Parts: sequence; structure tokens; C-alpha cells
Amino acid sequence: MAEEKRAFQAEVAKLLDIVVHSLYSNREIFLRELVSNASDACDRLRYAAVTQPDLTAGDADFRIRLVPDSEKGTLTVIDNGIGMNHDDLVANLGTIARSGTAEFVRSLGENASRDTAMIGQFGVGFYSAFMVAERVEVVSRKAGESAGWRWESAGDGEFTVTEVADAPRGTSIRLTLREDARNFADPGELRRVVKRYSDHIAIPVLLVEADREESLTSANALWTRSKGEITPEQYKEFYHHAAHAFDEPWLTIHYKAEGAIEYTGLLFIPTQKPFDIFHPDRKQHVKLYVKRVFITDQVEELLPPYLRFLRGVVDTPDLPLNVSRELLQHNPLLAKIKTGLVKRILSELKKKSEEGGESFDSFWETFGAVLKEGLYEDYDRRADILPLCRFRSTAVEGWTTLDEVVGRMKEGQDAIYTISGDDLALLRKSPQLEGFLAKGIEVLLLTDPVDEFWMPSVGNYQDKPFRSVTDAGIDVSAIAGDSPKDEQPAAADSDMDALIAALKLALGETVADVRGSARLTESAVCLVAGDGQMSIHLEKMLRSHRQLDQDFPRVLELNPRHPLIKGLAGRVKAAGTGADIEDIAHLLLDQARIVEGEPPADPSAFARRMAAVMERGFAA
Ligand code: ADP
Ligand code: MG
Repeated sequence: MAEEKRAFQAEVAKLLDIVVHSLYSNREIFLRELVSNASDACDRLRYAAVTQPDLTAGDADFRIRLVPDSEKGTLTVIDNGIGMNHDDLVANLGTIARSGTAEFVRSLGENASRDTAMIGQFGVGFYSAFMVAERVEVVSRKAGESAGWRWESAGDGEFTVTEVADAPRGTSIRLTLREDARNFADPGELRRVVKRYSDHIAIPVLLVEADREESLTSANALWTRSKGEITPEQYKEFYHHAAHAFDEPWLTIHYKAEGAIEYTGLLFIPTQKPFDIFHPDRKQHVKLYVKRVFITDQVEELLPPYLRFLRGVVDTPDLPLNVSRELLQHNPLLAKIKTGLVKRILSELKKKSEEGGESFDSFWETFGAVLKEGLYEDYDRRADILPLCRFRSTAVEGWTTLDEVVGRMKEGQDAIYTISGDDLALLRKSPQLEGFLAKGIEVLLLTDPVDEFWMPSVGNYQDKPFRSVTDAGIDVSAIAGDSPKDEQPAAADSDMDALIAALKLALGETVADVRGSARLTESAVCLVAGDGQMSIHLEKMLRSHRQLDQDFPRVLELNPRHPLIKGLAGRVKAAGTGADIEDIAHLLLDQARIVEGEPPADPSAFARRMAAVMERGFAA
């Protein structure tokens, strides 16, 4: 039959080049990858057969066979799972489906093959076969289809696909082992490697020698064993398999719930941030099993989106085996499991949070922004989530909690002050903070977009309202605080009134108001949100997502203690506004905009005014 020749997707070709030339010492993990894929394929067929029993007709006992041939130097991994048709083979074994891996490979430099440790960290899946094989032949037939297909490659940039007759259902992968990898045709070696990496696999893994079959694994699902029998290494390997991840689990939660509803959960929180954690679909990733049979990893109802960083499995005997995905929606049993899981996860996080330290900080840095979504999406659990939250603040170097913040509040302070922006370093320099810093009043520095949503919805912590220092009408003068050092005398009120009136006239509609400010100590001016307006940062965020095309005028605040403002105020009071008041007014406003990280409203007018003012100062 006609042989079809195809080139690998560029990223695969690059990946294969790295894999083939790597000196990775841990090559044996290729077997873990192939066994893991075979097990997934069996799980998927078992689930499909719930609604289409014909799919497994004649061969319903799932198993994975390893057939070594030391004479020929081959190893064949055979499963009777779901199989792949022509298009599946081309798509799954010709491209990198997982965009995170694809991006990672793209980012690797030319000398990447020397950097072999990445293979172990990143998991190259099926392609890891080329670490040990000079040639890989895959024969597969998809359940329910009659045509079989052979995929072949030497890992050199191309593969071929040919139709074959009489392929059994499922997938058989034959590796022609490289000279230096012949040990993988040795039964002893296979026993050792399978035990080490794949013992948790619930589908039996059999070693086939002559006409003898030997079971290599315990073949009972890991989560059904008692905790004491499971080593950390086994948990880790299971996590790698279940999550398709290759980092260490940061937290492992394994428990059995008994009572109104029974289920076992084996859950993991990764150490590394999954690349798609902020994908808009916000899908959860824990797999649902019923009586040890894989049902689906697509059930939205199992965990809320704010816990989508969890990985692992939940197994319950209380749902019917033939439950379909549709039936799972709004299923009351599932809703109960979800409630139980969320409670348990948050209580485990609470323990870790109370232990504190770097470990929890690193969790927070990785997943805090996701967890915070729960603050406005899960009202019932809000009180459990808030104490877990960590914040950057003007009062401490590292992370702090709301309890600590409340404990540090000054006498007369009745609100928790916040400021939000995209960049921590810039935030720390915000002019709106100056008055707070001078008095030693703590301000939380918020840099996650989600903060703009949960803060207004939560409103307060221990009855202390959250207030943005960029809101109009914030008054720090009533707070005891430290007394500011070397405070300059302020301009006279009547001088300020004259200046404010002149600036209002010059700026007109472009500002909501012009006011004297108590929040500035160093800067001459700053912008704050108009009364009742959304915060400046939220406004910027919405505009950058094109959810807002309107400009809201802000309040321009003036520092009455700043020499420039004092000088101006005195001059305007004594001599009235000069011809240059327009220029000065707009320059002050543009200056405040620039500090906010925004361009001047009209850059060429800004440049002209700036030149005019400088000219008056310096022209010969
Ligand atoms: P991953 O398992 O993370 O998806 P792999 O590179 O290991 O990545 O496998 C790529 C894809 O190839 C799998 O997602 C699956 O669709 C398909 N595949 C691999 N091995 C098999 C198999 N034995 N049976 C069926 N499909 C398979
Ligand atoms: Mg895989």
C-alpha cells in the first residue's frame, strides 16, 4: 500500500534532535512514558465503551504487554486501548500538541542538546523513545474502525504512514534499540524499570517471554492502597503520570472520605506553574474515577475554577459506572464530593500556611493569583481563603498576611490601605504613597489583576474596610502615625485657593477637580480617582482589555508644601494669572500622568510647553 512521507512539525524536529543527541543519563524514563500513554489509551477506551460496548467486543481485558527480543535488539510495547487512526497518528506523533512544551522547545538555543537535564524536567512524552531507539514503528488500529496504520520514523525529521491489514485493536510500538541501549531488551532490566516508575498503573503491565506472561506491577490503583504502603517516590511517579507533569508535587493530599458519601481523593499541588493556568477556559484537571474505572478528566463540577491548579484523581463507588458526562452536570452527589474536596484542600492549605516559611511563600507566588479568584466566586469559603492570602506591603520586605496588617494598624486608622498597579517596584515609588510612608502607615501593594475584583466584593477584613490610597477623599491627618520629619511649612490657604481656582479655569473639563493634598510629601502633584469613580488602575486595566473606551476625568492634587506649588500659589495670589498659566497647568497635569505610567495627553503640546517654560528660565 502507498506510503505517505511527512515532515515533523519544526518544533518536533528540534525536540527529536535534542533527544537523539542528548547524553541524558536517565534514559530509562522512556518506558514510563510509553506505559503511561498505553494506560491512558486503555482508560479512554474503557470510558468510551460505557456508552458503546461494541468498542471492546471480543477483547475487554485491558493490559499492556512488553515484548523484548534480545536477539533482534527490539522492545515492543503493546496495548489494547483506544488506538489511533491515520489522522490521530499524524497529529499526535507528528506535532507537539501541548503548547507549553512547544513554546519551551522554541525557546531553546542551538546548543540545547548539551542541556540534557531539561528532558527529565519537561517530559518529552512519546518522543523520548528516540533516546533509546534508532527506529520506531507504531502499528495502531482505532477501536470501532477497520483500517490499521503503520507509522515509522528514525527520528531524523521525517516519518511515514502506511495503511496495514489485520492490525489488532490498540497500539503496538516497536523500538529498534540503539547499540548502547540493548539492555532494555533484558527482562531483568524491564522488571526493575517498570517497578520503579510504573508500579502505580492500574492496568496490568505484563512481561512476555516465549509464551509466558509475567505480571510486573501490583496492578491495583495507587490511591486504593493505604498511605503507609506508598513511598514518596511512588506518589511522585503517580503524579507525573496523572498530571502529565514532571516537577515534584508541592503538596500531596491522600484521604478517604466516609459517611454520607464515600470517595477517595489523591490530589497534588504542583511546584511549577502549569503553562496554561490563565487560559480563559479555567478548566479543572482532577480526574474522576468510579470504582477504579476512569470516567473523565473533563468534569467541571468536581472542583471550582479557583482550584484548577490541583492535579490527581477522585474515585467514588457512589456514582453509577455508566454515568455519562451529561449526567454528571448538576449531579447532587458530585456537588457533595466537590464541597468535601474544597474543604479538605483549603484545610490542608491552612496547615501549610500556619507552618509559614518559604515553602508556603513559593506556593503563594505560583498560585496565589488563582486562589484569590475564590474570594469573589465562592462566598461560602471566603473566610477560609482570606487568612491564606499573602501580600506585599510598604511595612515589610517579604510577604505578609491580613492579620499581621491589622495588628500593625496605627491609632486612629480605621481602614486597610491599598494601592494597585502592574509593577511592584514602580508602585513603591507612587506619589500617592508619600503621605502614608511619611507617617509610617502601612499600605498593601497589589499587583494581581484579580485584586481589583475581589477587594470591592470582599469590602473589608475584620471590619476594617479596604481603601485605595488613590481614592479621592482619603484623609490621613486623623491617624496618629509617626510625625513626619523635616516638614516644610505649607503655602497659605488663601494662596492655595487662588492657585486652585486658576488651574481649574485653565484645565476645564480635563480634570474632575483640583485640590490641595495631604498625601504628598515629595512630589508636587499626583492624580487620584474622582469621587465615586473606579480606581485609576482598574480603569487602565479595563482600557487595555478594550472594555472601556471612555476617559474619566481625575482629580489633580497639589502638594501645598512643595516649593514649586508654594511659589506658584504665592505668585498667582499676588500678581494674578500670567499668560503662562495655561502652560503651567497642563505641564502639572502631564507630569502627574507620566508618574502614573501614562503618556502626556498631547505629546507635541507637552514638548512645546516644556520648551516654552524652559526658555523663560534659560534663554539668553
Ligand atoms: P501526552 O501523553 O502528554 O499527551 P505524548 O507525547 O506522550 O504526550 O503522547 C502524545 C499523544 O499521542 C497522546 O496524547 C495520545 O493522544 C497519543 N498516543 C500516544 N501513545 C498512544 C497509545 N499507546 N495509544 C493511543 N494514543 C497514544
Ligand atoms: Mg504521554
